[in-house]
Amino acid sequence: MIPYGRQEITEEDIKAVAEALRSDYLTQGPKVAEFEAKLASYCGAEYAVAFANGTAALHGAYYAAGLEKGDSFITTPMTFAATSNAGLYLGASPRFCDVEPDTGNIDTDGIPALIDKSVRLIAPVHYSGMPADMERVRAIADENGLMVVEDACHALGAVYKGERIGNCAYSDMTVFSFHPVKHVATGEGGAVLTNDENLRGILMRFRSHGITRESLVNEPHGGWYHEMQELGYNYRITDIQCALGISQLSRAENSINRRRQIAARYDAAFNEIKGLKTPPHREERLNAYHLYPLRIENGRREVYDLLREKGVYAQVHYLPVYMHPYYRANGFESFTLPEAEKYYKSELSIPMFPSLTDEEQEYVIKCVTEAMQCVSG
Ligand SMILES: *Cc1c(COP(=O)(O)O)cnc(C)c1O
Repeated sequence: MIPYGRQEITEEDIKAVAEALRSDYLTQGPKVAEFEAKLASYCGAEYAVAFANGTAALHGAYYAAGLEKGDSFITTPMTFAATSNAGLYLGASPRFCDVEPDTGNIDTDGIPALIDKSVRLIAPVHYSGMPADMERVRAIADENGLMVVEDACHALGAVYKGERIGNCAYSDMTVFSFHPVKHVATGEGGAVLTNDENLRGILMRFRSHGITRESLVNEPHGGWYHEMQELGYNYRITDIQCALGISQLSRAENSINRRRQIAARYDAAFNEIKGLKTPPHREERLNAYHLYPLRIENGRREVYDLLREKGVYAQVHYLPVYMHPYYRANGFESFTLPEAEKYYKSELSIPMFPSLTDEEQEYVIKCVTEAMQCVSG
């Protein structure tokens, strides 16, 4: 069976984790800071703060952005529910903006109409690894005094106007996930990148109970002293996970290039097939291909089933977030966005991961081609 995504663990990775296990620290040791420094440097940001997972990182980023009860935030429905859920944790309400028909990214033309006094931030998602229109998002945010948090969980290694996503050139913070299907795996893991020292301080406290060694009250206690300044969580990542992350990150560029190579082969193989669309390309943007989202106008469901019978486990990304029963029951009962729903009806993510072999890819191409012949009569 060939899944849509799969982690790649090398002997080097295993060695790195074994070393961490033999060290003095299992958590909160030197590997966390080393991973953060290497991640910040890879992306071109000043700071990275690592978290227990990408969802915790989003929660931290929204908190640091000042999102609170009664506020609203603008995001896209074409994402994993966590992008929106993290705002719900803070008592804020999502406002879903429709998506571009080809990229599945937030359609920036729809953002201004969603803005009123309650809106505090915009959270675009670089769907599938294709950068969203960040220049426009930043311009709209600046006109309205809003924060920008990029959900870049699909986009480690993606390039926008010559610079890597994660450098926060157009945002206040950028969030990554290190779940095994993502570009770099730590088991569970995530991070927030920023160039703002103040935001970094808030993020560091938030992931560790709101407790810090620095003191707000200038009373000398002694060397043991820590104080809790705000309500935080235990959202820490371990040294064991960061050892894996460091090892994985050192190969990230190669594995993202391999993803691009796989995408180019798919593009060439599927270009001519009627009823099938390959993911779009954009000037000055380089996709990191977390996913390879095909669009099948008619018969997506049949193609999914036919592939599964052949051992090719495709997946659909995503059910628009507001269509989940929880959202339906909490304010989005009859909410609808036409492009997001069209996207959902036709999308199919076929296998895309760096260790996919050429033979496996040819098999996937053969199965998709045959399935398309079946559904188009
Ligand atoms: C994976 C993912 C997340 C959540 O990351 P976890 O590490 O699984 O918590 C959030 N947003 C998007 C778009 C994702 O793909």
